[in-house]
Amino acid sequence: MTDAATKPALPTYADVEEAAARIKGIAHHTPALTSATANRRTGASLVFKAENLQRMGAFKFRGGYNAIAALSPAQKQAGVVTYSSGNHAQAIALAGKLLGVPTTIIMPEDAPAAKVAATQAYGGEVVRYDRYTQDRLAIGAQLASERGLTVIPPYDHPHVIAGQGTATKELIEDAGPLDILLVCLGGGGLLAGAALAAKALNPACRVFGVEPEAGNDGQQSLRSGKIVKIAVPKTIADGAQTPFLGELTFPIIQALVEDIVTVSDEALIDAMRFFAERMKLVVEPTGCLAAAAAFTAAVPVEGKRVGVILSGGNVDLANFARFIAPSS
Ligand SMILES: *Cc1c(COP(=O)(O)O)cnc(C)c1O
Repeated sequence: MTDAATKPALPTYADVEEAAARIKGIAHHTPALTSATANRRTGASLVFKAENLQRMGAFKFRGGYNAIAALSPAQKQAGVVTYSSGNHAQAIALAGKLLGVPTTIIMPEDAPAAKVAATQAYGGEVVRYDRYTQDRLAIGAQLASERGLTVIPPYDHPHVIAGQGTATKELIEDAGPLDILLVCLGGGGLLAGAALAAKALNPACRVFGVEPEAGNDGQQSLRSGKIVKIAVPKTIADGAQTPFLGELTFPIIQALVEDIVTVSDEALIDAMRFFAERMKLVVEPTGCLAAAAAFTAAVPVEGKRVGVILSGGNVDLANFARFIAPSS
């Protein structure tokens, strides 16, 4: 999707509404949770959208299901291919299974074992690659042309962005107007969708993206006005190791997002501990990005009503135990 002539139109809030109708009764309407401790700690009124409790464990089910459901009967019959560090893979595999569509998933060799196993368990055919030396887009394009598959990329796709926006639509409809919305940022599907929904339902809401300190390509892109590409960042936030924003997600983010901030891996671990201990929630490192921005005041939230998207909960239990173990 680099050629302007073939670039699809940017999605709008109407597409988010259509996505909400497609996923209704299939995706979970996840709860909006509060914590008196979190409010005391930040001086804000925080509402957490618990997408770690979504089907397959992350918001990605929304966009994946919406994108496959919107295909033509012939496209559905031929099947889809995607590339992902994990959660989009599981989303496509599960959505394909529910819709009777065959799925092929290109996954990095160092993807968390739990994510690979879950993708295969949902019936996806997994093809491995080395994310530090091989180009997953090229592998995807080749498989698509050889097998007649439709490519469903993890974030730079109108129906994926629109599907991800349904999480924020539910949050604002359930929790009421917000002053600030904090959203984890990888390739920007979640943030772009969230911004479309927030600005349509609650125009005064200021939307912030949060990415790992080790890979602030989104922040650099927003500040320089063009998509900045970086080396694959090394961070425990494996769902946000995307080295650049999308051609569709970036213009939406540019138009609707206030700023992009960063948090350290230490702040993610601190947030994971908080959710496990205080809220009895398993949230994966990437899923803690937005919350960590509130806890560290990377975005000043004191006195504000703040929506925080907990984007996912898929973490190997051995890693989780290591992360949350008290340091000796
Ligand atoms: C994919 C993912 C993200 C980042 O989403 P983008 O749409 O790529 O920005 C954040 N958190 C989790 C848990 C994810 O799986």
